[in-house]
Order: sequence, then structure tokens, then C-alpha cells
Amino acid sequence: MALNLRFSPEDEAFREEVKHFLEQHLDADLREAARRQTTVFADKDVAMRWQLILHREKGWAAPSWPEAYGGPGWSPIQRYIFNEECAKAGAPGVIPLGLRMLAPVLFKYGTPEQQSYYLPRMLNGDHYWCQGYSEPGSGSDLSSLKTTAVKDGEDYVVNGSKIWTTHAHFADHIFCLVRTSTEGKPQAGISFLLIEMNTPGISVEPIITLAGDHEVNQVFFDNVSVPQRNRVGPESEGWTVAKYLLEFERGGGGAAARLKVALDELKALARKVGAQGESLSGEPAFSGRIVELEIGIHALEFDELRTLCRMADGDSPGPESSLAKNTAVELEQVLNTLKLEAIGWYGLPHHNLMRLQDNNAPTVGPAEFEAVNGCYLNSRAASIFGGSREVQKNIIAKTVLGL
Ligand SMILES: Cc1cc2nc3c(=O)[nH]c(=O)nc-3n(C[C@H](O)[C@H](O)[C@H](O)COP(=O)(O)OP(=O)(O)OC[C@H]3O[C@@H](n4cnc5c(N)ncnc54)[C@H](O)[C@@H]3O)c2cc1C
Repeated sequence: MALNLRFSPEDEAFREEVKHFLEQHLDADLREAARRQTTVFADKDVAMRWQLILHREKGWAAPSWPEAYGGPGWSPIQRYIFNEECAKAGAPGVIPLGLRMLAPVLFKYGTPEQQSYYLPRMLNGDHYWCQGYSEPGSGSDLSSLKTTAVKDGEDYVVNGSKIWTTHAHFADHIFCLVRTSTEGKPQAGISFLLIEMNTPGISVEPIITLAGDHEVNQVFFDNVSVPQRNRVGPESEGWTVAKYLLEFERGGGGAAARLKVALDELKALARKVGAQGESLSGEPAFSGRIVELEIGIHALEFDELRTLCRMADGDSPGPESSLAKNTAVELEQVLNTLKLEAIGWYGLPHHNLMRLQDNNAPTVGPAEFEAVNGCYLNSRAASIFGGSREVQKNIIAKTVLGL
């Protein structure tokens, strides 16, 4: 099939509409917060402010939602264009845990009551979700999870612990995998529960990352009562629901647009810094690495466009999304390494240590150096979360290469 790289006049008109909207509504504070962000997700206050602007002004908070549930009903191409323009404009990301991960699960497996209760509250920001999959000892081998849910009248009683739970300290709800049976193979006894974080017996302990950020947590469940009506899908058949959600966690796409913006930042840094008044961008070894990175980003972009063509024809992204995830993460890590090398001494992590004491600790060095070390350290985690690099390689070997 020939690859048509031109967007249609309708798509270009849509791009203009998005650009115009961003000029009107993406204010300087939001851009500044996004520029300073080192963590994987924007902080709750920033992400929610942007989500509510998108929701109230245009109904654009959940680009992938069908119109029937209050989304814009966009085509994959429109979603790609929207992502690209948001990245170019420096917009913060909207938190995907509810809107992009749980929502498709509720569209497919939720009861009408669950859909009508949870979906509008997700969209208007009343509910803020976190993901309770991983446990100490159960990450890649997720089906070995041990948190139990035992029936007690109309409820389940939940006991156990979840770890690396992103934004659990902000969330008022958690979607959780629990063990409702130990019969048969491990995957067979798992159920998918929706739990309110203020239920008695839940506690959240922070985990501070190397970058000095508080983004992940450990969550403990001590005799937590959860109504059985909060189960999504049949009892002990939650593994199918859990895997369906992972398709959306891994298949985000659209990384090239963000990487291209970061590449421009790297080039600007390289022009600005260098030894004895020389610009680093004139240094052949360093600029050679930038060129190599740029080629990689272009290759990823074309790969994304190829996937987009397939999706526009009604196909799903397929297991190649594991390949796209690994490639995007590898490029992101190279990019952050080059930025860190470019700023030299300013890349020492003293700023992160200061932020452990005071989150608003003043910047050391020029403003554009501030986020470099934190981004470098946090990008190391990208080859672990959402399925580690090695696990993605196993998927590629099995399902793409047929090994
Ligand atoms: C920043 C961050 C945020 C996260 N947020 C969340 C969240 O919100 N909710 C949530 O539920 N989880 C979250 N996670 C957890 C994440 O999903 C797990 O860390 C990940 O699945 C890996 O599991 P693990 O940490 O137990 O490592 P392990 O599974 O113990 O892996 C250790 C090492 O062994 C390798 N390995 C494991 N199995 C294989 C295999 N079969 N073949 C080859 N190599 C293998 C891995 O690649 C890795 O290098 C987050 C993690 C991070 C780092």
C-alpha cells in the first residue's frame, strides 16, 4: 500500500482550529509549568486546570472518547494532529490514568450504572484515578499478585499492598487488581475492582525518586470493604479486563512530536554552551550524536504515521506498539543524556536534593537548565513502567517476529 503523507484539507483546517484554540487558551502559567516539569505526569493542579479548560471550552479533554460518552469522536488522524499541536505549543499533558486507561475499559466492560456514574465525573475532574496493578514481588509477572478480596455479604474485604502507584497521593479513586480465587492458573483468579481512596483501612506512603520527586507511592489495604457492585467484569475474570487496559497504557503513540520539541531545546542548549567560548554545536563529536538522534526521531515519526494510516483504515496499533514504545523511550533517554552532558556542572543533582527540603527551591544556573537533571533521572524509569524494555522485547520476539 502506498503511503500518502499529505493530510487532507479538512485535517489541515482542523489543525488551524487547534492552533487557534491553543493561542487563545494555553496561558503562560501553564506553559511555564510544563517547561519546568521533570516528572512523567504533570502535577495534579496543573493537569486538572488544563483538562478543565479543554473540557469546558471545547469538549476536548478526552480526544479518544466517542461522542456517545461525551468525547469529541475524533478520527485517529485528528487525535494525532491535536497531540502534535499541543506538543509544539508546550501544553502540559492531561493525566491518562482515568481518561485514557480506565475509560475504554468501562466503555467495553462497565455496567450501564458504572458508565453513567464514573465517566462524567472523570471528564469534569470530580474524580481523579490511580492504577493499582503492581505489587512488591509482582511487576512483570503481574498475574502472581497477592492482594486478596474475600466476599463478605454485599462487599469484598480487601487486604494487601500495591506499589509504584503513580499519583496515589492525589487520587480519590483507584482501579485495582485483586485475587478472588487461588484455584487454577494464577490469571484465572483475578478480579478488577474500583475503590474509593477514602475508604477506612487504606493508607498511602510516599516513595521519593532519585530526582527528588514525589510521584509514586505504596498503597496499603487493611480490611478495606468494597461493594461487590464496584467489580468490573465477572468475578475472577479480571485478567482479560486488565490486559485490555494495558493496550491503552502502552499504545499512547504520538511520541515523535514531543521528541522533536525536546530536540530543538537540545540544539538551543548546544548553541549556548561550550568550553572557552566555543559553541558545543560546532563540536563534531557532539553534533554527530545530535544528528544521529534526529535521524532516529524522524524514523519514529514515519513509523507513527504508518501506524496512523493503518488505524485510519480501522486497524488497531497491534503488537508493534511494543516496538514503538521501546524506540521512543530509547530516543528519549539518549536525548536527556545529551542535554545533561551539554550543561556540564549544572547537571549535578544538587537541585533535586534542595527540592527534597523545599519544592520551590531557587534554580541554580540559567532557567532552561533547571529541569535537565530531573528529566534525565525520570526518563530512566520510562524503560520500566508500562511494561519493561525486556518484557516488550519478549512480546516483539513472540508476536511480531514469530520466534
Ligand atoms: C515511575 C514508575 C511509575 C509506575 N507507576 C505505576 C502505577 O501507577 N501503577 C502500577 O500498578 N504500577 C506502576 N509502576 C510499576 C511498573 O509497572 C513495574 O515497575 C514494571 O512492570 C516492572 O515490574 P517490577 O518493578 O516488579 O520489576 P521486575 O518485574 O522484578 O523486573 C526486574 C527486571 O527483570 C526484567 N525481567 C522481568 N521479567 C522478565 C522476563 N520475563 N524476561 C526478561 N526480563 C525480565 C525486567 O525487565 C527488569 O529489568 C510504575 C513504575 C515506575 C518505575
